[in-house]
Amino acid sequence: MASSSDLFKHAQEVLPGGVNSPVRACKSVGCDPLFIEKADGSRMWSVDGQELIDYVMSWGPMMLGHGYQPIKDAAHKAVDMGASYGAPCPDEITLAEEIIKMIPSIEMVRMVNSGTEATMSALRLARGITGRDKVLKFEGCYHGHSDCFLASAGSGLATFSIPGTPGVPEGTVKDTLLAPYNDLAAVRAVFEKEGKNIAAIIVEPVAGNMGLVLPAEGFLQGLRDICDEYGALLIFDEVITGFRVSAGGVQKRFGVEADLTTLGKIIGGGFPVGAYGGKSKFMNRISPCGDVYQAGTLSGNPVAMAAGIATLRALQKQDYEALEARTLKLAQDLKAALEVNGFKMTLNHIASIFTLFFTDKPVTDFASAKTGDADIYSAFYRHMRAKGINLAPSAFECTFTSFAHSEADYEATLEAVKSFKG
Ligand code: PMP
Repeated sequence: MASSSDLFKHAQEVLPGGVNSPVRACKSVGCDPLFIEKADGSRMWSVDGQELIDYVMSWGPMMLGHGYQPIKDAAHKAVDMGASYGAPCPDEITLAEEIIKMIPSIEMVRMVNSGTEATMSALRLARGITGRDKVLKFEGCYHGHSDCFLASAGSGLATFSIPGTPGVPEGTVKDTLLAPYNDLAAVRAVFEKEGKNIAAIIVEPVAGNMGLVLPAEGFLQGLRDICDEYGALLIFDEVITGFRVSAGGVQKRFGVEADLTTLGKIIGGGFPVGAYGGKSKFMNRISPCGDVYQAGTLSGNPVAMAAGIATLRALQKQDYEALEARTLKLAQDLKAALEVNGFKMTLNHIASIFTLFFTDKPVTDFASAKTGDADIYSAFYRHMRAKGINLAPSAFECTFTSFAHSEADYEATLEAVKSFKG
């Protein structure tokens, strides 16, 4: 078989940057990507024959490990019945019911094909419901690549945003307001000025796209209160955290309910799927029963639905607390090993997610996340990969464990970390 290096050269002739999603090109960690031949349990094998313990887990979906047998069986069975119908199928109801059962604020669900579609559509719905245009998001939170969410902070405290990439018109992001994560005072200040024009706050209720950042005590409830006061909707983007931070997502664990919730990743068990949901009074505004249009040729795809049902049913039987305790122990051991080698570290952890930042500052928002030394992280990534440990190829991402990771995996990971000297 061709090597990763040969494949990457070839890929760059036909795919921009050789990839179909930028971070996996490994540019920010100064190396070329590995091409993967197969994955099973906690492990992946590159086309070069290298075996790796995986802590990316497809960026979150593979919570039960790669190649989990009941998901494979469900998907195979579904494929045998036809890949796509463009007409309703029973599994769409079943997956919706599993989601509704697990996430308390959700009474109805609309399936889509990705997290990006979920957030984009949830915002459209919030705008339709409130008749307002503006949305408040937080610096460092990622909600997919639709235009209105690709805003970066302009000058001044919150409120002023500019396109974060060419191709996004200024007119589109003018309605996107920004505030620092965990800064309720900034949110309040924005609402005092713009409150009657704001359709929604969208937030990763545990943030996973600037590395892992936890909500400060009272932050989520504060957002809930502000939304209630001003008649805006609260959208929790649980694309990463849904069914991971707890079986009922962040909202079950923290006891704060969203008006609309966006989901992805885990609900497809590795197949392309997303969803948004909420109270029926909101969801019934979506076409065809309501006036807010949203559609999808492959939405509710029978193979993805079957895989999603198998995933959520299996997750309901798993011991989340045990996984959380084992993940915390791993993260603490890795941190201690790095500190022994002279690095200053900050650890953020919850459930089966953690980030080790190469900084001694507490990380509570995007500004503090950026104090993490990205150059050292790059060297760390390359060292770990050479030792057969696959970490996220960026300093601003999470480390994911799964129910498939074993104590032996953790020991091998710790051994690899111990020999990292910078
Ligand atoms: N929201 C969050 C919180 C995400 O982490 C992501 C993707 N990492 C998205 C939305 C977009 O999902 P997708 O890549 O499936 O479009």
